[in-house]
This record gives sequence, structure tokens and C-alpha cells, in this order.
Amino acid sequence: MNCPLCGAEAQTQEGDFGRRRVIACRDCGEYAITHAAADRLARAPKEWRDGYVELVRSCPQDKRLLIRLSGDPARPLTTELEDRHGNRE
Ligand SMILES: [Zn+2]
Repeated sequence: MNCPLCGAEAQTQEGDFGRRRVIACRDCGEYAITHAAADRLARAPKEWRDGYVELVRSCPQDKRLLIRLSGDPARPLTTELEDRHGNRE
């Protein structure tokens, strides 16, 4: 499948009972995203996706960025850091 942030071909791995996947993108790096957040990003302005690419790139080596829906209509997406095994802080 393609990277939800930049559209390049990326390796993906399903997780969390199919609610999210881990994306390993050559351009953006590795991050996790829920299906709902990926759908929302696909309909969002390109600047949103570019902003998350920057966040993924600035993520610490031993951590992984998770992009998910926030439930807040004003700021529909939120991020949190998890470790490489998918455990939240
Ligand atoms: Zn990418």
C-alpha cells in the first residue's frame, strides 16, 4: 500500500486487531496510523500531511509516532509517541 503521508510505495504491517497499521516509508520513516486517521488525512489539505511528515522525521530513534483521531472536531487528528513495540508512554 502507499504511504498515507506522501503517497510513495511503503511497507505496512497490520496491528491492534486491524485498527491501525505501522508504515515503513523510505521517505517519511516509520510511524503508526489508525485506519480512521489515514482516511481523514486522505481528505485533508496537503499541508496537513506535510506537517506530519516533519513530525515523523523528528521522532526520537527509539520511539514511534502514532497518528490517530482525537475526537475533537476543531483538531481532528492527534499524535502520541509509543515505543517500537507499540506500547504507549
Ligand atoms: Zn511517506
